[in-house]
Amino acid sequence: MHRTRQARRAATFVVAAGTSALAMAVVLGWPSSPRSDLASVAPPAAVPAVPAVAAQEPVPVAPPTVPSAEPVATQVAMVKAEPLPTQDVAFTMVSPDQVPEQAPMADAPPPAEPGESAVVEHTLTIKRGDTLMGVLVSAGVDATEAHSSIQALQEVWDPRQLRPGHEITLTFDATATPDGNEVFQGFTFEPQPALRVGATRDPASGTFAPAEEKAPVMAEKLRGEGTIENSLFQDGSNAGIPITVLSEIIKAFSYDVDFQRDIQPGDRFEVMFDRERTEDGRTVREGDVAYAALTLSGKRYEIYRYQDSQGDVDYYDAKGHSVRKALLRTPINGARLSSGYGMRTHPVLGYSKMHKGIDFAAPTGTPIYAAGDGVIEKAGANGSYGNYVRIRHNKEFDTAYAHMSKVAPGMKPGARVKQGDVIGYVGSTGRSTGPHLHYEILKNGSQVNPQGVRFPTGRILEAKELQRFKTAMTEVQRTYASLPTISKVASAGQ
Ligand SMILES: [Zn+2]
Repeated sequence: MHRTRQARRAATFVVAAGTSALAMAVVLGWPSSPRSDLASVAPPAAVPAVPAVAAQEPVPVAPPTVPSAEPVATQVAMVKAEPLPTQDVAFTMVSPDQVPEQAPMADAPPPAEPGESAVVEHTLTIKRGDTLMGVLVSAGVDATEAHSSIQALQEVWDPRQLRPGHEITLTFDATATPDGNEVFQGFTFEPQPALRVGATRDPASGTFAPAEEKAPVMAEKLRGEGTIENSLFQDGSNAGIPITVLSEIIKAFSYDVDFQRDIQPGDRFEVMFDRERTEDGRTVREGDVAYAALTLSGKRYEIYRYQDSQGDVDYYDAKGHSVRKALLRTPINGARLSSGYGMRTHPVLGYSKMHKGIDFAAPTGTPIYAAGDGVIEKAGANGSYGNYVRIRHNKEFDTAYAHMSKVAPGMKPGARVKQGDVIGYVGSTGRSTGPHLHYEILKNGSQVNPQGVRFPTGRILEAKELQRFKTAMTEVQRTYASLPTISKVASAGQ
C-alpha cells in the first residue's frame, strides 16, 4: 500500500466550503456577488461541525451589509442562497480555532506541545481487493472507530463503491496523549470530480458525522454533429460526443427508429447536450440531451427535451408529440435482431414452426427493460420459455420476455413496473440454443407481429402547454445555432 505522510492546516477545508457556496450560485445561474456576501449567508465559522444537522436547520440570514449601491443584486443573491446548505454541507475537519494561525505547510508533522492540536494526514491509494475497513485498520485505526466512521460515511455515500485508485486521506490528532497515541479524527476521499466525502469526528461528542463537500461546478452546453459512416455510436464518438449522450439519444429515438435497419451511410446527426465541469476542467457530469436530430435517408427526426409546467421532463418532436410510445419496439440495448416473427425452421426442434415473437441476440446478463408501464402477470420458470416475465400494460396489450438467465429482484405477480425498468437479464434457459431475448407482444391475449402493430401514441401537448413548448424549442434552436461544433480534440480531456 502506497503511503505518504504530510501535515497540513486542516483549515483548508473550511475555506473550500466558502468557495462551494459561490460555485452553487454559478451552477444555478444566480447573480454573482462578492464572496463576502455569501460568507454572510453561511459563514464557515457559524456552521456546526455536524453536517447532517446543519443541513436541516434553517440558515441564519444576516442583513445585507454591502454598500447601498447594489441593493437589488444583493437581495437576490441572499434569498436564492437560502436552500444551499441542503446541497452543500460545510466540511470541517477541525474547527479553525484548534489550528494555530501560523501553522506552516510542512512535510513532517509539527512538534506537538501538550494541550495543542497537531493534525497529521496520511494519504493512501486504494488497491484492488481493498476494503475501506481493511484500509483503515491497517493504517492503525482501532476497529471499533473504523466501523463507526464507515457507518457515518454511509449516510452520504455507499462504501461498496470504493474503487482502486481512489486516494483516501486519514486525519489524526497527534496531540501528545498519556499513552503517546495519535487520535483518529476521520477520513475523506474524492469518489468523483467535485465531490469529497468522508467521516469526521465531532470534537464535542467524540462520535463520527458524515462529511460531504461539493466543489465549484460550471454548466455549459455543447454542440456535436456529423455524418454516419458506420454507426451512430462509432461516428458520434469520433465527433467527440460522449457515450452517455449517445446512449440517451438512441434510447429516445428507439420508439421511432430501428437502429438495426434504418441507419444508412451518409445519414446525419446533430446534438446539443449539457456538461458540468470543475474549474480545472474535469468533467463532473454530462448527458442531458437538450436537442437531437437524425436525418435518415432524407427523413428528418427531431427531439427536444422539455420540462412542462407541471415539472415533468420528456422528449417531444417539433410538433409537441411525446416521442415516448406505449410500448418499446426493442426492450434491450445494443442487441441484434436474430430472428423475426413468422414461419421458420425451429433451431432446436428442426421442423417448420410459427415463431410467435422476435429474438434479439445479446450476451448473457444484458438487462431487459419493461416495454411499457404495467403490472407483472407472471415471473419465473415457465417450461420451454425458461425464466419468463409477462407484463399486462392495459386491457389490450401484454408483453412477454423469455429465456432469461434470471428475473430481476422484486418482479412478482402484481408488482408495478415503469417503462424502461430492468425486469430481468438475457440468458439461454428453457428451449434455447444460445443467449437471446425472445420478446412477444400479445394483443387481446394472442401473440401478434410487433412490426405490424400500431401502438397508441404518447402525450400530445396542446393549447398553452404547446405554446410554452414552442417558445422553449425556439430558444433551443437559437442556442444550438450560436454554438461552435465540438471536435474530438476539444473533448479529449474528458
Ligand atoms: Zn424466439
